[in-house]
Amino acid sequence: MLDEKIIRKAPKVELHEHLDGSLRPETVIALAEKKGMSLPCFTPEEIAAWFSKGSDEKSLSLYLKSFEVTTALMQDRDSLKRIAREEIEDLAADGVVYAEIRFAPVLHTKEGLSMEDVVSSVIEGLQEGRKSTGVEFGLILSAMRDQSAEISLKTAELAVAFSDRGVVGFDLAGDESGNPAKKHIKAFEFIRAQNFNITIHAGEAFGLESIWQAIQICGAHRIGHGTRLTDDMTIENGKIRKMGTLAHFVLDKRIPLEMCLTSNVGTGAAESYETHPFPLFFRNNFRVFLSTDNRLMSNTSLTKEFYIAAEKYSLDIHDIEKITLNAMKSAFIHHEKRLRLIYDVIKKGYAELREEYGLS
Ligand SMILES: [Zn+2]
Repeated sequence: MLDEKIIRKAPKVELHEHLDGSLRPETVIALAEKKGMSLPCFTPEEIAAWFSKGSDEKSLSLYLKSFEVTTALMQDRDSLKRIAREEIEDLAADGVVYAEIRFAPVLHTKEGLSMEDVVSSVIEGLQEGRKSTGVEFGLILSAMRDQSAEISLKTAELAVAFSDRGVVGFDLAGDESGNPAKKHIKAFEFIRAQNFNITIHAGEAFGLESIWQAIQICGAHRIGHGTRLTDDMTIENGKIRKMGTLAHFVLDKRIPLEMCLTSNVGTGAAESYETHPFPLFFRNNFRVFLSTDNRLMSNTSLTKEFYIAAEKYSLDIHDIEKITLNAMKSAFIHHEKRLRLIYDVIKKGYAELREEYGLS
């Protein structure tokens, strides 16, 4: 069994983490004080517990409420910059070597910042973090399913406009039910016309139709979660007996699935770690990898997610390396940069780790 120390040291890749879901509890307290905003509790430990309450109790309303608190604290340049810098620092300390961070700029314009101001502040913070840690990043701009098609198009245009400053893709997030991705088709058409990258949260709460629409109508290159792809499979005794055309398509075309164990258990997308489809997809060669989604709300880290997976699904160091390579291959940065990270950082790092700990 791999211990947490080895997993923390292992080079890891994070492709699905929300900026507004990954603040340090200490920073929440400091920013609330500065703003004169009252919090439901006081110490960093209490704050951490409060934020993960929605996930612990599987309460969606509590979960969503906690994002209202974090976004309220992220309405000025300094706070956005600080949170972005700290995020890279925290990921570096957790052994992450490349990260794609996402957030929805429109949620940070309530106190007068323009979407451009918001994005440039976050990029400045991420760049500071990269300078002090060496961790490479890509920024993904999210549009929200429940907002207008005009706002999602504006977000898509912003993503492309900032592509030379570190934005690598466009995402659609938010409640799937009653908010089909195709409502935002203009934004996706724009991104595709610009030869840019798309990931869509789909198949988390909603079934196959949502995944199909994301891939075949909206042109998603990656899927966030995708747990419900199991609806297109006949599974007997933990083995896939038969797959429908969509599951075959996802497997054949190597469409990456960004899977988030603790987040999925917390929101009810999966009933438990034991019944989560991740190991099934992984053992059947789907291009899957692990992500945290929201470190604060799920009280987790990428090391913790890998540790849980290693324990529950009997993963060894080769599996962890394979999952990390799956993620790196799926990243939205250019091919030559991906190759450099794969050969110079990831493969090299795992070889050293095996040597150091005598792992075979
Ligand atoms: Zn997410």
